[in-house]
Amino acid sequence: MLDLTSIPVVDNHCHPILREQRLETLQYRAYFNEARDPLFAEQHVINSVPYLWMLRQLATIFGCLSKNNEEEVLKARKRLDSDTLVEHLYRAARIDTLILDEAHPDPEICYTPEQMGQLGHFRVARMLRLETLMQELIVEFEDFDEVLTRYQHALTNLRLHGYVALKSIVAYRTGLNIIRWSKDQAVTSFREARAAIRDGKLRIQHKPLIDYFLHIAFEQAAEQNVPIQFHTGYGDNDTDMRLGNPLHLRDVLENGAYQNMPVVLLHESYPYTQLGAYLAAVYPQVYFDLSYTIPFVDRLEMLAFTRQALGVAPASKLMYSSDGIFLPEMHWAAAVRGRSVLGQVLDEMIEHDEIDEQQGYQLARQVLHDTAYTVYRL
Ligand SMILES: [Zn+2]
Repeated sequence: MLDLTSIPVVDNHCHPILREQRLETLQYRAYFNEARDPLFAEQHVINSVPYLWMLRQLATIFGCLSKNNEEEVLKARKRLDSDTLVEHLYRAARIDTLILDEAHPDPEICYTPEQMGQLGHFRVARMLRLETLMQELIVEFEDFDEVLTRYQHALTNLRLHGYVALKSIVAYRTGLNIIRWSKDQAVTSFREARAAIRDGKLRIQHKPLIDYFLHIAFEQAAEQNVPIQFHTGYGDNDTDMRLGNPLHLRDVLENGAYQNMPVVLLHESYPYTQLGAYLAAVYPQVYFDLSYTIPFVDRLEMLAFTRQALGVAPASKLMYSSDGIFLPEMHWAAAVRGRSVLGQVLDEMIEHDEIDEQQGYQLARQVLHDTAYTVYRL
């Protein structure tokens, strides 16, 4: 059996966690599904395998008598103050670096990246979420050219400003079929977006406008050789999964001007895993993210997507993540599961004499640690 526990992980896509971790049962459960309807937290999460697995792990950690008594586990969890819980889980996870998308959840209710890094003894790097930047500027300024100038300015010298990557959630909003629009079309779309501002807030879902601004970001990313992460596949409940298929990115990937922009397809493009991994296998600039907490799937599905990714794409194109958010156990769980699942898949390959043990360990190191170091220049 390959033992990967000594490899520290670079979690290449995740989010901050809540500063107050003492949570009520329904609130806690709600973090384990992506459904919009509260009915899921009330009735269905308790019957979902990833949640039941988590309760069993926590029961062991907290020394509960039963491995499946939700009430006992959550009571034990609540007895710990937030810092102690976070510190314990993060140190056990052996994390080298977290690359954080701070745009979600609201930073007001979260630990700062610095606090997370101190509690867990790891480094924290940041990414810049493009749609959030667009929204803020569009709300603040009524003139299109002013927004454009400020947007461009925010995207210059990204590394100097502390960002190792860009991120786009366009898949959640208008789809990955990003196309070219004229400036006039973008301006019309901008006016519609301005008219949709409510209480000083905007939820940008105006396709010509988003696509137009994304192309500007692509030019910058290519020039600075900064990677961009795209959410693909399973994610927030507002995503139109038909347009979350990474094959829709073809025009962007084929564009000669963007060849210096590394593209990271997030969340194993689940359930489009084979398609996403294929893109990483044929486009030099495409990398593929293997996320072991979100999407919420069980171990058998994790084995399946890990096999599919390693089966078609080189390990030097694959990167580990958790997509952990809200709770420290999400970052912790991915590290435990990621190492274990990857180990099992590589063991199978060793058993079938596709690779030897030393190569297995080397490939695991690339997925868990080395590829991210290269791509994000950590
Ligand atoms: Zn995320």
